[in-house]
Amino acid sequence: MKLRKNIIIKGIVQGVGFRPFIHKLVSIYQLHGWVLNSDLGVEIDIEGKDTDLNKFIIDIPKKLPPLAKIEEMRIKDLPPAGYIGFSIKKSISKKENNFVLVSPDISICQDCLEELFNPKNRRFRYPFINCTNCGPRFTIIKDIPYDREKTTMDEFKMCPICQKEYENIEDRRYHAQPNACEICGPVVSFYKNKKKLQIKDPVKEAINRLKQGEIGAIKGLGGYHLACDATNDQAVSRLRRLKNREAKPFAIMSPDIEKIKQFCLIEPEEEELLTDRARPIVLLKKKKNYQVISTQVAPNNNYLGVMLPYTPLHYLLLEDHFLALIMTSGNFSEEPIISDNQEAFEKLDKVVDFFLAYNRNIYNRCDDSVIKFINNEPMFFRRSRGYVPYPVTLDFKIKEVMALGGELKNTISFSKENYVFPSQYFGDLKSLETLNFLKESIKKLEKIFRVNPKIIACDLHPDYLSTQYAEEIAQANNLELKKIQHHHAHIASCMAENNIHETVIGIAYDGTGYGDDDNIWGGEFLVCNFKKYTRMGHLQYYPLPGGDKAITEPWRMTYSYLYSIFGQKAKTLNIDFIKRRDYNKLLVIEKMIDKKINSPLTSSCGRLFDAISSLIGIEDEISYEGQAAMELESICLPKINNSYGFDIIEKEKGYIIEPKKMIIEVINDLEKGISKGLIATKFHNTVAQFTLKLCIKIKEKTKINKVAISGGVFQNKYLTEKVISLLESREFVVFSHKKVPPNDGGISLGQAVIAGS
Ligand SMILES: [Zn+2]
Ligand SMILES: [Zn+2]
Repeated sequence: MKLRKNIIIKGIVQGVGFRPFIHKLVSIYQLHGWVLNSDLGVEIDIEGKDTDLNKFIIDIPKKLPPLAKIEEMRIKDLPPAGYIGFSIKKSISKKENNFVLVSPDISICQDCLEELFNPKNRRFRYPFINCTNCGPRFTIIKDIPYDREKTTMDEFKMCPICQKEYENIEDRRYHAQPNACEICGPVVSFYKNKKKLQIKDPVKEAINRLKQGEIGAIKGLGGYHLACDATNDQAVSRLRRLKNREAKPFAIMSPDIEKIKQFCLIEPEEEELLTDRARPIVLLKKKKNYQVISTQVAPNNNYLGVMLPYTPLHYLLLEDHFLALIMTSGNFSEEPIISDNQEAFEKLDKVVDFFLAYNRNIYNRCDDSVIKFINNEPMFFRRSRGYVPYPVTLDFKIKEVMALGGELKNTISFSKENYVFPSQYFGDLKSLETLNFLKESIKKLEKIFRVNPKIIACDLHPDYLSTQYAEEIAQANNLELKKIQHHHAHIASCMAENNIHETVIGIAYDGTGYGDDDNIWGGEFLVCNFKKYTRMGHLQYYPLPGGDKAITEPWRMTYSYLYSIFGQKAKTLNIDFIKRRDYNKLLVIEKMIDKKINSPLTSSCGRLFDAISSLIGIEDEISYEGQAAMELESICLPKINNSYGFDIIEKEKGYIIEPKKMIIEVINDLEKGISKGLIATKFHNTVAQFTLKLCIKIKEKTKINKVAISGGVFQNKYLTEKVISLLESREFVVFSHKKVPPNDGGISLGQAVIAGS
């Protein structure tokens, strides 16, 4: 019997070789009809014998091309139309607000890599080789459906040979939108002092200069990298100086796994992630003899951020020439990554000796993603290139919301149907540049996702640029504005990615978040769902003398604890911390606290880590966010279970964790000459212990045993693993982050789900 079916497939089905795949499948079963890309996804209209047609439908999800992902398949019966043959029809736009999922950028595939290094191939050493299964996607897409004229490849007209590949269904470049070759495609150029030099082999020139210790700006997929030889101390120190980056670790790119093994330990699951086509930076444990890499790359840190090459240009650059190159985002301290050639020449010229640029434009800037394995699961520290714009899929529908996130490590999110789309990483929303990056991205992403949200979500903090901008657009466009408490958003983001709907115990440990009592929160126990939260407990409030200044100068927080606990006697404590201090500065802090001058109260867990770090002499002042805590973690010792004392006090408004006893015991240990490593470990164990104890108390009251943990402090591997194992040993079910970062990069997801539920 002859049947006809209309099939609409949603998911990542464009730019991944889906239509040729359907074409091939059709020819196996002798079916007739057509296929096309629309803004719904892929639409197939097909008729043939019922048995063949049914087999065809069963085969689709089974035999998918490697990059395709099906979210939904809608099948409708229609009366036969008498089709003859099979055709791929021109892409169409159905309705204004339909949308398709856009593929993230994908590293060069094995087939293209072989061609790249095959002297007989016509694309031998061509830096922009790609195919249907690999190459740039999100970073070049201007609009959907994904067709060449809607990408930044629209400026390049395919030569007859490329055109033929593009049109030949048997070819692996069939409908590969960025298809190009040396004759017709983008080219690499070498620039020095903002001038293009006529050099026959720009890549070779760059390699030679990097070998001599020069610093280069190299255009990647999502923006510029600053590069130098990671084994060259002088070059790395010079880069630090010029980029004005004192100590924050640099990421490196190494040609292959074997080379990485020379300086880092790699677990099998880490190797799998390194070689994944998303090619994230993976934080790997340094080997004892890691000194083959300059110690300046990641000082005072046990981990190194490492990635493999992901574009053909990277492969040509690294080949056998380097053990590793520093490949750090081309920007200045937390400003957005630079992607435009002119802007790069203007801004980065001071920092670099040369530019290796090319003439394909980057439309959507995108930093490298960063992942660390915690509790044997990959945890995002930054979710960007290779993952964006793939959505977090919810098992329920929510309203369309635009959520503007927080301040640090900011992202925004759009929700639509049962998806939330977290944006790429913008950086810290403290400068006009970052705000402009955010504004420009809102316009671009609204178009790609086909959203037109009537609800805007933002943080409660009145001073965040994201809050102010949300107020501005809400008022200008008469939209509903929902302000979401920071830690509620943290917990909701963890719940959303784990698809938890019921009320949980949420633990949010981070640096700073505006509380609904106007204090600065950051050590919070919320019993919450997507609708509401109750603050069941928190770390004791202590003054934060100097406000933001106390964040970059942890010693201020240390002294705040000491002065609050010991009063006037704090100044006479017989410990190095006091001896290192300027007496007058301590008096100033005391005065600030006494008179409540610029000393807001905080329950921040991040600040507690800072305070201990400075107290035991790790870092009194820091040059990047989280430095004091990170270095404190890095000296922890394995197999130590000792901890310090603490109190949990029950007050009318909830429980208070009082760390006073712990601080006194740390001082006793310091006086006894106990090692910093042991003190740091006991401190971490204490935090895990009070976390468990308060959870038990809340469970007794509420009968809730599901715990969601979030906040930047949970990037601490030692603490997170300890907390999870303690909670699980007492029959709690613990949910942590796997899809978005626990830090403020995950805030916008939580805001979107709360505002849209
Ligand atoms: Zn390929
Ligand atoms: Zn060509």
